[in-house]
Amino acid sequence: MKKPDIVILGAGYGGLMTAVKLQKKLHVNEATITLVNKYDYHYQTTWLHENAAGTLHHDRTRIPIRDVVNMDKIQFVLDTVESIKPEKKKIKLENGELQYDILVIGLGFEAETFGIPGLAEYAFTIEDINSARLIREHLAYNFAMYQHEDGKNLGRLNIVIGGGGFTGVEFLGELVNRIPELCEEYDINKSMVRVINIEGEASVLPGFDPQLAQYAMNSLQSRGVEFITGAMLKACKPDRIVFEKDGKEEEIPTYTTVWAAGVRGNSIVEKSGFEHSLGKIEVDRDMRAPGHKDVFAVGDCALIMNDKTGKPYPSTAQIAIQQSGTVANNIKALVQNDEELESFEPNLLGTVASLGHNDAIGDILNKWKLSGWKAVMMKKIIDNRYLLKLGGPGLLMRKGKFNIFY
Ligand SMILES: Cc1cc2nc3c(=O)[nH]c(=O)nc-3n(C[C@H](O)[C@H](O)[C@H](O)COP(=O)(O)OP(=O)(O)OC[C@H]3O[C@@H](n4cnc5c(N)ncnc54)[C@H](O)[C@@H]3O)c2cc1C
Repeated sequence: MKKPDIVILGAGYGGLMTAVKLQKKLHVNEATITLVNKYDYHYQTTWLHENAAGTLHHDRTRIPIRDVVNMDKIQFVLDTVESIKPEKKKIKLENGELQYDILVIGLGFEAETFGIPGLAEYAFTIEDINSARLIREHLAYNFAMYQHEDGKNLGRLNIVIGGGGFTGVEFLGELVNRIPELCEEYDINKSMVRVINIEGEASVLPGFDPQLAQYAMNSLQSRGVEFITGAMLKACKPDRIVFEKDGKEEEIPTYTTVWAAGVRGNSIVEKSGFEHSLGKIEVDRDMRAPGHKDVFAVGDCALIMNDKTGKPYPSTAQIAIQQSGTVANNIKALVQNDEELESFEPNLLGTVASLGHNDAIGDILNKWKLSGWKAVMMKKIIDNRYLLKLGGPGLLMRKGKFNIFY
């Protein structure tokens, strides 16, 4: 009998961890496993805000796929997925086509701009290494231009972050570390630079413990961040943004708007005809797409409802990694003709948000509220634990975060 072809799309937290687990669970004689990714490296999405601010070089964030995948057991295809044809069990790639018997969709997220005029054209988003690198270079360019131009254009030194959710707040924390370095490099007085956060709710980090969210705002404010809460971004133009607060429209001149207020699942899910909600497939408990016994979705392409709250579980790396275990076990069961597939149960360990190098907040197991150096240490432990799981002690030593004092 022909070995089944297992195809995994995307080498992010969900896809790569599924591949790494399957290479241990299945013998090469049992199935052919193919991993497709548009880069030959995996990047840690949860570190991208550091690359975007310029506080961490992107080489620390990317991990060559060959370093964690056993190429004797898994075929790696460096290509971009264009679409999935579930009725024909085919994947259309930029440079070819693949056939599958079992598919895992782990293509991650995209920014959602909710049709706000100009955001798609003029705002930056933190999505992958390229977009993060672009923000870092753009910040430096504007500082250099400020000095170069005859008329001093303060808009070049205004940095607007749209959205005070997790990504927005973590990016603000990195910016307050980076701005003094940029000012020194480009001979600019630090007091001229404005870092402004625009948030629709009354406080940043909606959904987080309110006291910790307030701690985050105080910490960032004390280091120069301006918060405009209860305000909606209305338009982004090449040289300014427009927002509405208390029924009044206002403008801020800026050449740098970073949009961190909306994500959705990869649009390939939608284009390929799967039932979806903002690009996410509401998967059955065994992580398969409804009506598709041979298609699994993982990470930000999957949506799972929390029966207790009636809301979806948040899209996080933590959940994507946990889901990869269920997906790998269930693929093994399908390959070995086991009747029973396991159900995915998230084990929410908590959340830690960094506020720059030396501050953070954390809500651990709904029991411990951490801030300051304890939360900073916890964040490093979480980051290092993932590296250990993915590539063992060797990867941890190469890419881990061991700096204790910042
Ligand atoms: C700045 C930031 C900070 C975050 N911090 C945290 C945190 O502290 N904790 C936490 O739990 N979560 C955090 N998140 C959320 C977390 O990063 C995501 O939930 C997680 O990355 C989802 O994993 P994934 O496997 O679905 O997708 P990803 O990890 O995004 O991987 C998707 C993969 O698919 C590939 N791909 C995409 N399109 C194509 C295509 N067309 N063809 C081929 N390959 C493709 C990409 O190259 C990538 O390798 C953060 C997110 C951001 C942006």
